[in-house]
Amino acid sequence: MNEINTKLVSVKDIKVDIDNIQLVADTLRTGGLAAMPTETVYGIAANALDEKAVSRIFSVKGRPQDNPLIVHIADVKELSVLVQEVTPNARKLTEVFWPGALTMVLPSSGLIPKSVNAGLNTIAVRMPGLPVTREIIRRAGVPIAAPSANISGRPSPTTAQHCIDDLWGKVELIADGGECAVGLESTVISLATATPRILRPGTVTPEQIAEVLGCEIEIDESVFNHNNDGVKVSSPGMKYKHYSPKASVTILDGNTEQVMRYLSEQDCDDIWALVFEEDLPFLPISGLSLGKFNDVHEQAFRLFAAFRELDKKGAKHIYARMPNTEGIGLAVYNRMIRAAGFRVINI
Ligand code: AMP
Ligand code: MG
Repeated sequence: MNEINTKLVSVKDIKVDIDNIQLVADTLRTGGLAAMPTETVYGIAANALDEKAVSRIFSVKGRPQDNPLIVHIADVKELSVLVQEVTPNARKLTEVFWPGALTMVLPSSGLIPKSVNAGLNTIAVRMPGLPVTREIIRRAGVPIAAPSANISGRPSPTTAQHCIDDLWGKVELIADGGECAVGLESTVISLATATPRILRPGTVTPEQIAEVLGCEIEIDESVFNHNNDGVKVSSPGMKYKHYSPKASVTILDGNTEQVMRYLSEQDCDDIWALVFEEDLPFLPISGLSLGKFNDVHEQAFRLFAAFRELDKKGAKHIYARMPNTEGIGLAVYNRMIRAAGFRVINI
């Protein structure tokens, strides 16, 4: 791949940075790639109607072709042209959760080229919560395909620096919007199944969705389990090892005392712990805080940045404390267990 002359621009202030916002929009409309902020994580964005630009996303990320992309829109009205039908359930969810961190999978109208949705007959759509993201999409005037702006397999980027680390020389623009407020990717829900089904957990929780829809919802087994290659899965992204720092990760499932004793028995170099803030005074080895035990928002916000920070510190092995799996904790757990390649030690 040829080196590209990447430009870094600020889009932190929707008024002050309006020329930069326009530049990102023009770059996308005319077939370029830009890393751009959203409230969840940074996305590597391209015009979803431009197959050449979309194919560059796959090659730059090293993303398998069978892992479909989410299409981002600036206004809820744009949903109806992308999907066969805005069903009553879809309408209810857009009213409560859009703009925001919820992606809906619905039967595709066929407008978006098949390379975007990996040849499936469904399409995943989201209207992002960050105003600057919607302004970029609105000015581009086209739907925007934007998977997370990391090299495939790496932790998703939550700052412009993370995008620089992964994508410098590979995309036309990196738009710096500061730190992502949420820090984990959107919840993905399929409304194309008989019963609505969570394909990827996020900060919009199954409980919240069930309450709005007033019906049972399912959680796809790929959320909890390792999918074997070759098995057909409803969310193709879930079958890949994901979100991994360069260091190997092991999850420790036990109480504070048990975890501290286990860590004190490890005597190799370059081991780091990723623990709750309350654990820090008791740590027998170097460690970082994932946030307070009960603060799942902070844990979601910090997880990917912590993985990247531990890589920079030269960690070879990370022992991470098992997060609480209730509510938003399920999303943190889902990312962590994939980063760990499903290695959990029950102490
Ligand atoms: P990313 O863009 O990196 O946030 O990943 C997008 C996620 O959405 C992946 O887990 C995909 O498998 C999932 N996804 C996108 N489109 C579809 C679809 N049509 N059906 C099911 N899952 C989808
Ligand atoms: Mg991703």
